[in-house]
Amino acid sequence: MKIYCRYCDSITKHHEKGLRTSVNICDICNTTNMPITLIKSNGEKHFGIQFKFVEWGAEELGSRAKELHEEPQIGYSVIIDPQYGYQYTWLTTPITEIESDITEGDFRCIAFKTKNSEYKLYICINTTKRK
Ligand SMILES: [Zn+2]
Repeated sequence: MKIYCRYCDSITKHHEKGLRTSVNICDICNTTNMPITLIKSNGEKHFGIQFKFVEWGAEELGSRAKELHEEPQIGYSVIIDPQYGYQYTWLTTPITEIESDITEGDFRCIAFKTKNSEYKLYICINTTKRK
């Protein structure tokens, strides 16, 4: 399976460490990597096991999360590893433009813009769907 490797700084082939784990190992450098990587245009990187897209409620109501979705849309935010309540690893500001959304086999890359930044979201579908 293909995953973004934080050490190689590129998309490389990975193998699973064992059954029923989200830990994957880069075939090239042997680093363990998470199935989800979000890279901000300033170089900031965030890693996770799950991701969702947050739909926001009306702004008059304080812009609280309304619903979580599997697919991106303009106005949604990306949330990495959402937990119960309002805990998460990372939350972007709302998407203003989806530049590209490419799936090749079990690897998906979504490039999108927010008001102030550009992001690339790398997803290993194979691993995120396994429980
Ligand atoms: Zn590597």
